[in-house]
Amino acid sequence: MFYQSTRNNQLRFTASEAIIQGIAPDGGLFIPDTIPTLPKDIFDMLGHMDYIERASYILSLFLDDFTEEEIHYCVRNAYAAEKFDSDNICPVSHLFPGLYMLELWHGPTCAFKDMALQILPYLMTTALKKTHQEEKIVILVATSGDTGKAALEGFKNVPHTEIITFYPENGVSAMQKRQMATQTGDNVQVCAIHGNFDDAQSAVKSILTDEDLQKEMTRRQLKFSSANSINWGRLLPQIIYYVSCYAELQKNEEILPGEAINIVVPTGNFGNILAAYFAKQMGLPVNKLICASNANNVLTEFIHNGIYDKNRPFYTTISPSMDILISSNLERLLYLLTGRNDGQICEWFHQLDTCGRYEVSQTIKNKLSEDFWADFCDDQETQNTIHHMFDKYSYVCDPHTAVAMSVYKKYQLATGDLTKTVIASTANPYKFASDVFNAIQQKNVNISPLSKQNEDEIVNELEKICNLEAPIQLTSLKAQPIRFRTVISKNEIKDFIKQSLNLK
Ligand SMILES: *Cc1c(COP(=O)(O)O)cnc(C)c1O
Repeated sequence: MFYQSTRNNQLRFTASEAIIQGIAPDGGLFIPDTIPTLPKDIFDMLGHMDYIERASYILSLFLDDFTEEEIHYCVRNAYAAEKFDSDNICPVSHLFPGLYMLELWHGPTCAFKDMALQILPYLMTTALKKTHQEEKIVILVATSGDTGKAALEGFKNVPHTEIITFYPENGVSAMQKRQMATQTGDNVQVCAIHGNFDDAQSAVKSILTDEDLQKEMTRRQLKFSSANSINWGRLLPQIIYYVSCYAELQKNEEILPGEAINIVVPTGNFGNILAAYFAKQMGLPVNKLICASNANNVLTEFIHNGIYDKNRPFYTTISPSMDILISSNLERLLYLLTGRNDGQICEWFHQLDTCGRYEVSQTIKNKLSEDFWADFCDDQETQNTIHHMFDKYSYVCDPHTAVAMSVYKKYQLATGDLTKTVIASTANPYKFASDVFNAIQQKNVNISPLSKQNEDEIVNELEKICNLEAPIQLTSLKAQPIRFRTVISKNEIKDFIKQSLNLK
C-alpha cells in the first residue's frame, strides 16, 4: 500500500512519510491507494479483544511500513488505562431501545479529539525514527477549541517535537480557553487570534506549504507538520472506534451479525464522519451516515444540492467545535467519489480558493445521497435537546452531541427509518458547563442566569442538579496559573511562528 495526494495521484508516499508531512507538497491530502477490507466474520474475533488489540488490528491494515511491535508500542501507550476514565476507552451507553451513545470523551482533555491525538505523537515519532530523520517536528494547530488542547496534551514534552496552537479569541468556551491558557510543557506555544477558525486554519495551511519558510526550516533542521484532521495520522485512529463499537454491540447481542446501523456525527471539519465512511468502505455494515451541523450549515446544503458555498455569514454558536465553513476532509471524500480524479479535485478546490464555491456533478450528488443524510439545528434547538435529554432520559449531553441528537430526530421524522443508530458523543458536558447548565435549567434561555465568568460556580451547580461528577481533568485547572495571554491578528500568524522558532 502507498499513499497518494488527492491533488496528484502519481505521487507515492509511505504511511510514515504521510504522517510526518501532514499535508502533501501540492496542498492535497494524503489518502491510501487502496482501502483494506475487513473479513466478514471479523466482528466475532474483535468482540473478544480489548480496545488496544482492536486498535492494533485496524492500524496494521493501513500502516504497512510499521512493524507489529511498533504499532503495539504506539497503541499501548496512547490508550493506557490511566489516561482514560473508562476501562473501555470509549464506552457505549444505551439511551433507549435502538439508540446508542458512543462516548468518545473519556480521555485526558474530555473531547473526542483525544482518541486520535493521544496516539498521533507516537505514530509521528515512530515514523521519524523509521525514516532516520534528524529533524525536529513543529506541529502547527488551528483549533476551534478541542483540537488545540488535545494536541497540546498529546505532544507536550514529546522529544523532537514542538507545538504551536492558534485559536479564535472569541470562538471557544471559557473552559476550553482555560484548558489551553494553562497548558504545561516545555515545547508548547498557545496564541489567540482575532478571527474565526477558518482564518486560523487557512493561515496554518498556507504556512505548511510556504516555500520560503520551508527552506529556512530545512536549514535549521526543522519540519512543519499538522495535528489537524488533514493529517492522515489523525484520521486513521478515528476509524478504530466505529469498528470497535460495532464489535461491542454485536458481542452484547444488541445487533445481529451483519445488521446495518446508522451513525450520526456532529460535524465540523468532516474528519470524524469521514472516518465512519472509511469504516463503511472497509465493510462495516452501515446504512446511513447522518451528518449533523449547527447554524454553519454549509455541509447540509452541500449534501442536499451538491453546491459547496462558503460565501455566507459565519455564526458563533454554542457548539464552537463545529463553527467551520471550510470542511477540509470533504476533499478526501470527493477524491474517492470521483474515482480518484485528481484533476477534478484540483479544479474544485481551486474554485473554492478563488470564488469560495464549487458544484459537483449529478453523478457525485447521487453518490453523496446514497451514503449520507444531512441536516442542521440552531442554538435554540440545541438547548431544547439538551433540556429534553436530561428531562426524559437523565442523560447530560454537551451541545455538540445535542446537535447530533436533534438532527437524528429530524432524520427519524423525515424517513421513519427504525435502523439501530449510534450517535458519536464528542465532548464531556462540563467542557461547556454554562451552556449545558442554562439549557437544563430553563427551556428558553437567551440571557445567562449566571455570567460566563462564573465557570467554577456553574460547574458546582451542574454537579448538584445532574448527579454527574465533573472530571478532575477540568476541575483541577482552576488551581493552575495562566501561562499564555497573547492575542494577535490573523496577519501576524506567520511572524508569530517565526519568532517562536527564532527564524529569520
Ligand atoms: C472537533 C469536534 C467536532 C467536529 O468533528 P470534525 O471531525 O471536525 O467534523 C464535533 N464535536 C466536538 C466536541 C469536537 O471537538
